Amino acid sequence: MLASVRPADVVLEIDLSAIQANFQTISALVGPKVKVAAVVKSDAYGLGLVKIAGALIEAGCDLLLVGNLHEALLLRSSHIGADVAVFCDEFARYGGHYRSNGLIPVVNNCVELDAISGAPEPQTYFLNVETGFSRLGLAFGDVRREYLSGIFKRRPPSVVLSHLACSERAGDAMNLLQRDRFQATSDLLKPALRSLAASAGVWLGEQYHFDMVRVGSALYGLNNAGIRPNPLKPVASLKAKTLEVRKVARGEAVGYGATFRTARASRIAIVAIGYRNGLPWACANKISVRFAGYSAPLIGRVSMEYITIDVTDVPETLCGPGREAELLGDVFTVDDLAATAGVHPQEVLTRLGVGCARRYLDRSPASAGFPGNLTDAGHEHDPRAIPG
Ligand SMILES: *Cc1c(COP(=O)(O)O)cnc(C)c1O
Repeated sequence: MLASVRPADVVLEIDLSAIQANFQTISALVGPKVKVAAVVKSDAYGLGLVKIAGALIEAGCDLLLVGNLHEALLLRSSHIGADVAVFCDEFARYGGHYRSNGLIPVVNNCVELDAISGAPEPQTYFLNVETGFSRLGLAFGDVRREYLSGIFKRRPPSVVLSHLACSERAGDAMNLLQRDRFQATSDLLKPALRSLAASAGVWLGEQYHFDMVRVGSALYGLNNAGIRPNPLKPVASLKAKTLEVRKVARGEAVGYGATFRTARASRIAIVAIGYRNGLPWACANKISVRFAGYSAPLIGRVSMEYITIDVTDVPETLCGPGREAELLGDVFTVDDLAATAGVHPQEVLTRLGVGCARRYLDRSPASAGFPGNLTDAGHEHDPRAIPG
């Protein structure tokens, strides 16, 4: 099994209290009348579904949004009691699982809506409507036709939601267009609660908050909208170990493609992390890592399992074999890495989560061992198959 050969020396450390603080920051920003639903799809953006869900519930969250039924069942089998809604619903196929586990489908099309309509008992559901993203959700014409059929009177949705395409750019006209379309569509679905904004949409202001915001990235410390000063706490730090340090003469090539040549006699640390762990290949020759606070540049390409670091200026005792290099932390965050490599922050985070061992840091007063109570956790595997 791949999980058993994952090197424990590449550690993504996740600060649960930072996630809780970010939840509170968003809650305070939108105010008490607006509900903050936590998006924990894709294994909580790679950070570990059940652990993160538990931390969010402790912080006061009572609605979790997952990507699929497997994730919802994993939460239930882990005794997570909060409301759980499923983005990619398949209610028509798995209605029984929704009912027996008290799960909420997000209805994305008319076929699923028919299944809600034909269900033996009333079913709590959210309705996703299309306003300019052309992904999932009922088009306005569908909503109007279904409205006229009377289904929303017989089986009203509890929440109507839509998703913004350009919320990271506050000035983009798409935001206003989608907001107007959402207003018009959701008027047909009263008194359903309304939800338009995800993380970046929160910063667009009150007119975008409606009754509920659905926040993922911001909880995990990603500042998608580039708000300054950044109100979010970094959540993830990344550490890997030095395998060996070698001396390299001036003028020698380092790594695939010989993209770096030493300009002086150098010491190079070989650190055990590569793109298999989710470190973007595109950060070759662009980032620095830290050894006990000393910054040292990554030189040459990122290999599958190794990187090469110029440690000529780092004291030898701090970067030798077994010493830890910090790649991400409070100084250099996932956002910084993504910007430097020219890749998407959510992509970086979800890949690191899959490729590294995860360790949880809980600084909350409730947890013993202040200031840092570390617990190791492997990757959760869904114990329950969904029978067809
Ligand atoms: C992923 C997702 C979110 C959360 O998005 P963030 O930008 O990470 O906050 C909200 N709503 C829908 C429909 C999503 O797919």
